[in-house]
Amino acid sequence: MLGLVLGAAAGIASRTFFADAPQLLWIVENVATPVGQVFLRMLFMIVVPLIFGSVTLGVASLGDLSRIGRIGGKAMGFFFLTTACAAAIGLTLVNVIGPGKSLAPEVRTQLLEQYSGEAETRVGGGAVFGVETFVNIVPRNPVDSAARGDMLGLIFFSLIFGVALTQISQERSRPIIAVLEGLVDVVTRIIGYAMKLAPYGVAGLIFGVTVRFGADVLQTLALYVGTVLLGLSLQLFGVTGMIAKFFVGIPYRQFFGKCRALMVTAFSTSSSNASLPENIRTAEVQFGVPKEIASFVLPLGATMNMNGTALFEGMTVLFLAQVFGVELSLTSQLIVIVMSVITAVGAAGVPGGSIPLLVLILETVGVPGEGIALILGVDRILDMARTVPNVMGDQLTALVVARSEGATLRIAD
Ligand code: ASP
Repeated sequence: MLGLVLGAAAGIASRTFFADAPQLLWIVENVATPVGQVFLRMLFMIVVPLIFGSVTLGVASLGDLSRIGRIGGKAMGFFFLTTACAAAIGLTLVNVIGPGKSLAPEVRTQLLEQYSGEAETRVGGGAVFGVETFVNIVPRNPVDSAARGDMLGLIFFSLIFGVALTQISQERSRPIIAVLEGLVDVVTRIIGYAMKLAPYGVAGLIFGVTVRFGADVLQTLALYVGTVLLGLSLQLFGVTGMIAKFFVGIPYRQFFGKCRALMVTAFSTSSSNASLPENIRTAEVQFGVPKEIASFVLPLGATMNMNGTALFEGMTVLFLAQVFGVELSLTSQLIVIVMSVITAVGAAGVPGGSIPLLVLILETVGVPGEGIALILGVDRILDMARTVPNVMGDQLTALVVARSEGATLRIAD
């Protein structure tokens, strides 16, 4: 938290006083970014062995297939519910506040020109959604999936591996389980090292962002940014916090207090995947979620459950529709909600993972896809902010599932 505040304050101060000094750029490139990157890479580095080890073990220790199915079903049902709720909050807020209606046409043209190049590179070849999407969950080669960062493929492989492990003789499965337990212990130790680096890494990342980030773009899009941040806070402190309080029985302050390191990690890395190690640790250590539930539900959540992203997508589509004067009927808005939920499942838990999918929704409902260029300038800050409800939604799901499975949760001192 201190790293976050100090890094941000130093960044804002440097930008204000030495905006054009070459030394500032030098510091960003040679000090702040490298420190931040090392922290980020330490986290990314362990995601693959962590997912393979913990999902396999989680599934294997859940034992029978019916329990795996039940827990997986509950988790996915809950993901779906909270994500749809988030998208609906987003759409309602944009309809009520109407941030797109107040954007001056000349600002629109200027932003479009400024960011259209970046929009092309960020969107890439565009994403396609269809039967293929589901077929692609089954990896052709799990090592290749892992290397490409296709987490869903890796999770699928680990799931099947864990299931099969329970069906062979104990004599054969025991050594594999022992190795995987050792692997997860080692990875957990590495998470400890990474978290020791966290205060510096967080400061470095946030310093780089605040120095580079022009407050001018923020001002032109202030109403849009404010509306998204309001929506994300409602989702986080309203929906997520309240469910934790009333359905899991964890007092509001303790829920957010114990998740502080997790929220700072999500905010500074903008990545659900990078926050996964800390997410699993928080569930087990701070709330006593049983290992097999945390290590099964949380990797799934990091990949599939993105409340903040769905809210952001719904809002942005409607905002851009307002800017371009496209009237979206109630049916189109419902399509936006459904597509926001589906694409939030498909988005990768990496910085800016939802941007290519956002273009897909825009095009589906007839809003120009290049409109994305309008918001790219402020996306980094919104990305950091939406990743927090994303990971907190996963944490909540682990708690809800653990509670419903009769586990006794306890809050660490
Ligand atoms: N950065 C987000 C995450 O990792 C994904 C996104 O919305 O772009 O959760």
